[in-house]
Amino acid sequence: MQQGVLEVIAGPMFAGKTSMLLKKARAFDAGMVLIKPSFDTRYGICEIKTHDGLAARAFNLSNTKEVLELDAIRKAKAVFFDEIQFFTDPYFSGDIIDCVRILLNRGQSVYCCGLDMNWKGECFKITSELQKIANRYVLLQAKCSICNQAAPYTYKSNGSDAKIELGAADIYEPRCPRHFPFCNDYTPENIQKDACYHQGELFEL
Ligand SMILES: [Zn+2]
Repeated sequence: MQQGVLEVIAGPMFAGKTSMLLKKARAFDAGMVLIKPSFDTRYGICEIKTHDGLAARAFNLSNTKEVLELDAIRKAKAVFFDEIQFFTDPYFSGDIIDCVRILLNRGQSVYCCGLDMNWKGECFKITSELQKIANRYVLLQAKCSICNQAAPYTYKSNGSDAKIELGAADIYEPRCPRHFPFCNDYTPENIQKDACYHQGELFEL
């Protein structure tokens, strides 16, 4: 049997990763399934929603056994994973990398999207491991919330010091290397200057 194809879509928050995933999923019509990690340990159907308003039904799963044995997933031509970086403790049990390999060996194609780095600029292990075995790796960028330049990082503007904290625009915003505190070129002065410039631009619009 022919090996399936693995595609990984990575980048910071607000880069359009899930939108791209859902658009690819739609091309398969009935031949695909969407899977999300189970943040609340409930098993069942849930909805994936994107920041720009797309939505689709997905399986809310908590371990590799469910992924590999669920009938609807066995029958699918393509398996789509949202938030792939969270397919690990405490949200998910089992080795997701092995699980993806098994799906590929069955001839199923796998599409994953997720964060490549946390808000400290540290790599998510799952995303880096998948990058190594991907046939296609798409790295998306957002726009820096300060200067509008390409933003590869997710900055945490609020909330706790926890490494992982679920949230959206209330806690996180995209930042370019110059406006990301964990990069060498970062200085708070840059932020002040560019924030004014950015506001000026906004007024012009
Ligand atoms: Zn910036």
